[in-house]
Amino acid sequence: MSDCLFCKLVAGVIPCDKVFEDEAFLAFRDISPQAPTHVLLIPKRHIQSPSEFAPDEAEAAGRLLTTAAQVSRELGLDSSGYRWVINCGEDGGQTVSHLHLHILGGRRLGWPPG
Ligand code: AMP
Ligand code: ZN
Repeated sequence: MSDCLFCKLVAGVIPCDKVFEDEAFLAFRDISPQAPTHVLLIPKRHIQSPSEFAPDEAEAAGRLLTTAAQVSRELGLDSSGYRWVINCGEDGGQTVSHLHLHILGGRRLGWPPG
């Protein structure tokens, strides 16, 4: 078993508050929500960041976005709006080294980010 926290969520070794799952992706509520709706969408396959997408993985990369759109819709965020965030590496503030897309909504979000 990988030492990766999110791989353990995918494997069911650590429980999560799941909101969506298919063969390639898992979405679950963030344990420390920064907005009324705060969900993380992850590929089940371990990849650290978008930098690891190979040129021939355009379809997989695109499916991350189409799945994020579907989950955002299912969470009821379409009419009020939402924000997607992918933190990458140290300067990006990434704390879990398994690619994850934050879906945030339910309040007016500030800009620019800190
Ligand atoms: P990032 O800072 O972009 O790497 O985001 C990591 C996110 O994972 C943070 O928002 C954490 O609150 C969240 N997180 C950490 N552990 C868990 C967990 N066991 N279940 C759900 N979310 C988690
Ligand atoms: Zn992982």
